[in-house]
Amino acid sequence: MKEFDTPGASGLIMEEPLLFAKAKTGRSGFSLPSRDVPRAELPPEAETRRPDLPDLSELEVVRHYTRLSQWNFGVDSGVYPLGSCTMKYNPKINEKLAALPGLAGAHPLLPEAMSQGALRLMFELQELLAEITGLDGVTLQPAAGAQGEYAGMRIFYAYHQKQGQTRRKVLIPDTAHGTNPASAALCGFQAIPIPSNAQGILAAESVAELMDTDTAGIMVTNPNTLGLFEENIGDIAQIVHDQGGLVYCDGANFNALMGIADMGRAGIDVLHLNLHKTFSAPHGGGGPGSGPVCVHKELQPFLPLPWIVKNEQGYTLVHEAPDSIGRLHAFYGNFGVMIKAYCYILSMGPLLKQASQCAVLNANYIKEALKEAFHLPYDRLCMHECVFTDQYQQEAGVSTLDIAKRLIDLGFHPPTIYFPLVVQGAMMIEPTESETKEDIDSLIRAFLQIAREACEAPDELHKAPLKTKRKRLDETLAARSPCLTG
Ligand SMILES: *Cc1c(COP(=O)(O)O)cnc(C)c1O
Repeated sequence: MKEFDTPGASGLIMEEPLLFAKAKTGRSGFSLPSRDVPRAELPPEAETRRPDLPDLSELEVVRHYTRLSQWNFGVDSGVYPLGSCTMKYNPKINEKLAALPGLAGAHPLLPEAMSQGALRLMFELQELLAEITGLDGVTLQPAAGAQGEYAGMRIFYAYHQKQGQTRRKVLIPDTAHGTNPASAALCGFQAIPIPSNAQGILAAESVAELMDTDTAGIMVTNPNTLGLFEENIGDIAQIVHDQGGLVYCDGANFNALMGIADMGRAGIDVLHLNLHKTFSAPHGGGGPGSGPVCVHKELQPFLPLPWIVKNEQGYTLVHEAPDSIGRLHAFYGNFGVMIKAYCYILSMGPLLKQASQCAVLNANYIKEALKEAFHLPYDRLCMHECVFTDQYQQEAGVSTLDIAKRLIDLGFHPPTIYFPLVVQGAMMIEPTESETKEDIDSLIRAFLQIAREACEAPDELHKAPLKTKRKRLDETLAARSPCLTG
């Protein structure tokens, strides 16, 4: 295969065995001053419990961890167009502010009188998120998007119970995020799938057909997982409300809508945001995250506890409320993530709208640049991400997996693949607002090169990646009998 003009390179990329493989008995990475107390022998049983740690020099340990850190690929190292995940750049200043000792060191058990600054920050963040979404009440409690959905479904349940009803079903379009049906099911609802239409969005008629008085409401991911805006949301909300139901919006990907869409006016009753996607908190690798839930004022009494209330004395926490769904976990949510979101929103101000516009522009730019070479199942204006398939390349036996693996050779993290499930062989590309035109062009060139390679040398693509330390893995074997010791 020929060489290419992309960030992928090789050279001084070090292999690294386990520390245990490098150890030499007796080698040591520290020197302590000589003992000035009598030596005490360990009891024999302690000897057998001695940890089996490798003997290494300081430099060996430093190099080991430095090399491992260089194996990480993150948004700080290159383009990371993982659809639905919003791997955008998170300004470092927000990290710095979240690490201020007064904030990072604040203990959750401090009395309220000594936590006024933290409570104020949380209260004001709630107000800002209400403003951004067009809703009225906000809880910062949920520790992730999926926990926000869970809280939202608990609110659905509590609301209907208050009306003296137990509704059993929740409607969920086939373009919803996978966590949606799981969250509904966790709260005892039966998830009823609704197919999207030929344009990739939900038709009001399909909702009207299924909505009845045994249905608690609908959960719509908007923009949906095809990266498309659910344009009929207003009519859909009307249909659901007419039958006494509630409307949930999965707003995890709000970076397409900030300053543009007012979800309250669109008829949304409950919405969650992912602060760790849209509002400047790095994510991946397990958190911490924050999935605030925003609600219409009628649902405020159901919000989880504690509530932050402002009165003449300052800010205080309410720990009991008769209609609340109760606590979601200990304390008040992931405060560090809230600080970053608060700083990000205040420093961006009205520019949040421009961030959304850039996210949408970048995705559409990629969509237009690639749609000749890759099959675009829904050829229309997209939001923050665009979805292609491997249909054209399949003729040469090249699959989405081959394309994703080859992108690694060319220096790019692959997009989300084989999701959403409604599109066979999906490649879901989300450039986010933070990439430059040069980097996006470089990603486009890499995709186009792969499309050419799929015609010229399809068999080579099955071997990709060729430049990584580990080549193509046997994925079945890796899943069934993983080697966890190196
Ligand atoms: C990421 C995402 C979620 C889940 O969020 P977590 O914080 O990973 O639980 C839910 N819905 C959508 C649309 C998402 O993109």
